[in-house]
Amino acid sequence: MKLDLLVFAVHPDDAELGCSGTIMKHIALGKKVGIIDFTKGELGTRGTAQTRAAESEKSTKILGLDYRANLGFRDGFFKNDESHQLVLIQQIRKFQPEIILTNALHDRHPDHGRAGDLANDAIFLSGLRKIETQWEGENQDAWRPRLVLQYIQDRYIEPDIIVDISDFMDRKMQSIRAFATQFDSGDNTEPETYISQPGFLDSTVGRAREFGKIIGTQYGEGFTSRKLLGTHNLFELL
Ligand SMILES: [Zn+2]
Repeated sequence: MKLDLLVFAVHPDDAELGCSGTIMKHIALGKKVGIIDFTKGELGTRGTAQTRAAESEKSTKILGLDYRANLGFRDGFFKNDESHQLVLIQQIRKFQPEIILTNALHDRHPDHGRAGDLANDAIFLSGLRKIETQWEGENQDAWRPRLVLQYIQDRYIEPDIIVDISDFMDRKMQSIRAFATQFDSGDNTEPETYISQPGFLDSTVGRAREFGKIIGTQYGEGFTSRKLLGTHNLFELL
């Protein structure tokens, strides 16, 4: 299956927090979109790998994704090394996406930056034809997407581009709240965490408002880019 847009996320719920509005917007435009989560989030203070998987399934339906998979890397201890890079190279070549979105390169949680670096290194290496990989017994062709962006998640980072997600903000919050063990403080008796405090989701909404305000819309999602962004058409820009 070919995907137009592929999202890499180290924890189930990272894609929802960082870029679910952009995901739904592009699905509504007829693009094929998938998420590949690296770990099951088994080290999370609240919930378990099983509850996270069920929550992830619920969110996948809200987003309307064409594809979602979990690579089962070790939460907290995965490495940016050859064996992990080769797994990602296989996935990039299998789905041949035009655009890849990844975790922030610098963030509060060390997994996020390491996953962002791992994804970026694998994306570069995936374009080198002398790195040979197979999928289901077939040799894979080299592939590199034409655009790679990092979504913004735990803390404010100055974006290089902002996507208008005004029509999708309600469903973005629904997809985040699908991870009830992580964000719902209601009758949960597990310990409070950085992301389970009510103020955390308030800050997610506040940031979307702030990014929206900057580009003259109600809500937005910001992304950073390692390279200068270009366009074929100035009229597509807001
Ligand atoms: Zn995370």
